[in-house]
Amino acid sequence: MAIRNLRYDGDPILRKVSKEVKEITPRIEELIDDMVETMHMENGVGLAGPQVGVLKRIFVVDVGDGPIEFINPVIIEKSGEQIGGEGCLSLPNKIAKVKRPNHVICEAYNRKMEKFTIEGEELLARAICHEYDHLDGILYKDIAEGPVMNVDDYED
Ligand code: ZN
Repeated sequence: MAIRNLRYDGDPILRKVSKEVKEITPRIEELIDDMVETMHMENGVGLAGPQVGVLKRIFVVDVGDGPIEFINPVIIEKSGEQIGGEGCLSLPNKIAKVKRPNHVICEAYNRKMEKFTIEGEELLARAICHEYDHLDGILYKDIAEGPVMNVDDYED
């Protein structure tokens, strides 16, 4: 496993649409392992392929219950609403208020290419929506309710 270099806001790769994963190769498995390690090292709640320079529909999320790996995810249901501070490893030390659904249902594949369904509420719903947006080239600042601020200046 290895730590991957992060891509930061302004890098054109963050604005591209990622491609579906057709098959799991040893390289893909290594990528996912590295993404989990990189997310944990950076104290992130999630990390998507484009953020490490790989335009594949893969993201990892860990809201404190261990990492979850999403391959070719589709959000099939969104409901409710939450507004709260959101950050991104590609915009270090920044935060903005972002409105997200409070509840999502997401279908994705694991690394054995088995389909699974996951329900997320609150932080997990937020993280799934945030990471999913990365796969379509969207950053939270595009949809923020307020200005992007330095973390130190932000008040909830
Ligand atoms: Zn992000």
